[in-house]
Amino acid sequence: MRIGVDLGGTKIEMIALRDDGAPLLRRRVPTPAKDYLGILDAVADLVIFAEQELAQKGTVGVATPGAISPKTGFIKNSNSIVLNGKPLNRDLSIKLGRPIRLENDANCFALSEAVDGAAAQAGIVFGVILGTGVGGGLVVNRQLITGRNKIAGEWGHNPLPWAGENERPGPRCYCGKSGCIETFLSGAGLARDYHTRTGLDLSARDIALSVTARDHNATECFDAYKNRLARSLATAINVLDPDAIVLGGGLSNLTQLYDELLGLIAIHSFSDSIDTPIMRAQHGDSSGVRGAAWLWPAISAV
Ligand SMILES: [Zn+2]
Repeated sequence: MRIGVDLGGTKIEMIALRDDGAPLLRRRVPTPAKDYLGILDAVADLVIFAEQELAQKGTVGVATPGAISPKTGFIKNSNSIVLNGKPLNRDLSIKLGRPIRLENDANCFALSEAVDGAAAQAGIVFGVILGTGVGGGLVVNRQLITGRNKIAGEWGHNPLPWAGENERPGPRCYCGKSGCIETFLSGAGLARDYHTRTGLDLSARDIALSVTARDHNATECFDAYKNRLARSLATAINVLDPDAIVLGGGLSNLTQLYDELLGLIAIHSFSDSIDTPIMRAQHGDSSGVRGAAWLWPAISAV
């Protein structure tokens, strides 16, 4: 049995999977606010609950925003600020009396979709999160590639490619640079662009609804978004040439996003034709927690 835990800023979700990926048990609890020890307890309680309920032990994988610093072994870059600078992996391993695996939530998303999700048959899979933030993960032959500096797949903080006059230098990003892909392709980025064009505040979801209703400003804004996404994916394809790209996160649910996207990508790719499947995530919001469970390969049962 594999247990996955998705440790988010507002909720902690647990799933127990059978070795073939079938879900056995799920549970969700609120994340103790600003309370590191409380978070450790909550994660451990979920694991213990699953093992008691199912009367078997499992491997434990954890998905969380941010990354483990290769230098210190501590969490960095997490928007759950209380985790930053903490040896979460070590503390959870001690608490649960076994090694645990901990990975960035975008990496877990990519792994889940590559193992038994939308891209289950693909060799090289680039998983892309388009949500509050823009992240990504790379999986090759069902193995997560984290990279030497633990930043493989982090395309969101590359600059927007082929930026036009009106896109330079681009919005300021929290990472300290300007014009990062994330500043254009996050939900907030789409809403900001709509505000710039119209002076109105509309959420990404409402902008999509307005596109469906053939609102001119929303359509123009959404077309620009799609064009920026295509340019950004074209550079990822030029580097990785993956067998599949899976889109996840809130904005990936906008069905209009997929219309003619491949044609726009082809314009910017270094190839006379592009046939990369661009897929919507199969497991939706569960991809993170499922990917956390899949951090332990099938043969490594505890
Ligand atoms: Zn940035």
